[in-house]
This record gives sequence, C-alpha cells and structure tokens, in this order.
Amino acid sequence: MVSLVWQVLPASLPSWIRACSRCASPALEPTDRFRINANGPAHDVWLIYECPHCGAPHKRSLRRRVREAWPGELDPYRGNDSAAAALWALHLGRGQPLAHRVVRDALCESERVAVHVSQPHPCRVRWDRLLSAELGLSRSAIGRRWKVAFVPLTRPFEARAVVRDGDGILLALDESGGGPMLP
Ligand SMILES: [Zn+2]
Repeated sequence: MVSLVWQVLPASLPSWIRACSRCASPALEPTDRFRINANGPAHDVWLIYECPHCGAPHKRSLRRRVREAWPGELDPYRGNDSAAAALWALHLGRGQPLAHRVVRDALCESERVAVHVSQPHPCRVRWDRLLSAELGLSRSAIGRRWKVAFVPLTRPFEARAVVRDGDGILLALDESGGGPMLP
C-alpha cells in the first residue's frame, strides 16, 4: 500500500467583511503591511487592508498598548514581515470559508492508497468536495462508495465531514469502478 501526504493549503487569505468607507465596496483584502505607533513604551499595531475596488487603505487593530517584551519582539511588524501578515489575516478570518489548493504527488497505479492530510490552517472543505475535485468523481459517487472505496482511517467521519489536519483515508481504487479515475 502506498502512503501519501496531501497538503491542503489556503489559496488566498480571508477578506475583512467590512464596507470600504470611501466607495462602500463590501469587503477588504489583507496586505502584507503593518502600521505600528509608539506612545512611550506602549505600541499599537494594525494590519493594513485595502479596498479591491478603489485601493483605499484600512487599518485593522491587532494589538493595543503592547510593550516589547524583548528587543526585537515587534520587528516583524516594523519590517512588514509577509509571513506574519498572512498568519494574522488567517487568524482574524478564522471561521470564514477559505479557498484552498492541494499540493500532492500524482496518484500512481497502486490499488490502495493511504492519504494523510496536512492542513496547518483550517480551510473548511468537506471530504466529498475534496475527493471529488482531486479524483474527478462526482460527490454522489463518492458518497455511494463511502466506507467501501473511501475508508476513514484515523477517526470515524462521514463524506460530508469537514477535513481536519491529521485526517487519514484509505482509497481502495479497485473498488471504485468506472475505469481509470486517476490523474
Ligand atoms: Zn473602496
């Protein structure tokens, strides 16, 4: 049996669902820029969002009156660290549906493949939708063959369950029928 890891990663960062104060466009997009203001030893930090329609910048408060615990603690904000900005945008948008992409190796000719999911940030994609997109099968076909050709390994979950980090599933491809289905 072949064992593979599928990385389920955000394809984009979550918007801030808030109307632009300039043009009333309904959502703002995160940038990789911070704003940091010092008032004595206390700092206020914001993440900058931009209106996708008119480009107006909008500040979203991240931390208020924070004191630097060690020299350099706030450097990611001062230096507009793009990884820190992405983490904040994901944190602030948690719970929102998130477009995702899957990074994986091509499936080989093996009849039984154990797939394990690595998903650092919840994307809230359902198992039947994930498998449908990756295997080129309809969601109903996946539902019909659930627990026969698609067997949860790490916990009991249904086809409509949301994919979790660490989930595993066995793909018994010879049971799936319909001829070759692998990309
Ligand atoms: Zn605008």
